[in-house]
Amino acid sequence: MKSRTRFIKKMKDNFGKISDALKYERIIDLERSQWWNYQDLLAFQNQRLRKIVEYAHKKVPGYRAKFLKANVTPADIQSVDDLYKLPVTTREEIQDNDLFINNELITGTLYTGGSTGTTLKYHESKESGIVRWHMHLRGWRWGGYEYGQQRLAVISSAQGIVHGVNTVNLVGDLRETNMRKNSEHLQEFKPHHLRGYVSSVYILAKYCLDTDTRLDSVESVNTISENLYDFQRTTIENAFDCEVFEEYCCNDGGACGWECEAHSGLHYCMERAIIEEVDGEMIVTDLWNKATPFIRYKNGDAVEFLGSPCSCGRELPLMWVSGRQNDILITPSGPISPSFLIHHGCGQVGLDRPKGQFHSGIRSIQYIQEPGYGLRVNLVENSWCTPNEIEEFKDTLEEIAPGMQTTVQVVDELEMTEKGKRHFIVNKDKNLLRKWGYNC
Ligand SMILES: [Zn+2]
Repeated sequence: MKSRTRFIKKMKDNFGKISDALKYERIIDLERSQWWNYQDLLAFQNQRLRKIVEYAHKKVPGYRAKFLKANVTPADIQSVDDLYKLPVTTREEIQDNDLFINNELITGTLYTGGSTGTTLKYHESKESGIVRWHMHLRGWRWGGYEYGQQRLAVISSAQGIVHGVNTVNLVGDLRETNMRKNSEHLQEFKPHHLRGYVSSVYILAKYCLDTDTRLDSVESVNTISENLYDFQRTTIENAFDCEVFEEYCCNDGGACGWECEAHSGLHYCMERAIIEEVDGEMIVTDLWNKATPFIRYKNGDAVEFLGSPCSCGRELPLMWVSGRQNDILITPSGPISPSFLIHHGCGQVGLDRPKGQFHSGIRSIQYIQEPGYGLRVNLVENSWCTPNEIEEFKDTLEEIAPGMQTTVQVVDELEMTEKGKRHFIVNKDKNLLRKWGYNC
């Protein structure tokens, strides 16, 4: 079980990782900029864009080569309207590729969650870390949560119940016995705010409704990482008798958005990154990250700009994001979300060569649920994968997804949809999904 512990520790370290000193540094006043008019926001983006493109051309060989090949110089990129001249950058290009990293400016290392089936390791520079942190503080404030000053409960942890200053991490394993433990803890802790993966909060909400558990202290709920469907929002609102605020944040590339009090969509946070909608796909340019620059990076999500103004008065455009893997496994004991698998080491996969601490032999994973609790798991191995590692994976999976008829097979390539997408979870048991309240 060694590798599992390592995965969990890694995941735990990732969220909000920023040193205490940097938490208090500010390089842009986001409280003011949220009220700038659209033209000023755009001018700000254009100015940062010119800087980051010039920097990447000068200091990051991978980008210099791409620009050269496309016959584009930094002088050709004066505004967001010129972005189309630059080629798109893919996750595969950046993965394990030192040519896209400036080692001198690394202040933190992050990993994507792995719900796309593979994990990307990337770095951030000081400014990027500061902006990321303050962007979150502002987004949370829109939902009424003031970091550090109010009590917060988080449902995403794989480590059991852990208390911090004004925070509690609940057990992320949401099976019946733990749900009771979680709800008793919540009643005692009386959180003002609840935060967690959509599917986890939804499961908790259903439990509270089913058992008539009341959590009167909760003033707002912040859902993250997965698409929030209307039926989930309604259930969560009913269970906690408060408003739900959706958050979208993709740190590889810096695309992020939060719902404001008007709940008309996600406000695209223009001060952190440029988001382009190209044939429905999100292409993103991080305006701050110099350690692993993301320039016209395809992050795998789909975006739609709503084009309507928000009644709150902010001119940060409204958008709707989807395409984050939200399919769910359903075991005889209940649903298991992608986030749950990731947090238990059955989704977080590594691509590092075995030189660092994080070097899973499993390159990518895919879950396919067949009707009647059948579960096929496809694994793609890295060259250094050992039979022992596959056995450990199977043991862990059996523990967290009991009662499934599971077959694990090592394959050369994951199964793809007609459009060439490789889904992390494919649930073919539509009846079971409906039974648990998932629209499909
Ligand atoms: Zn608004």
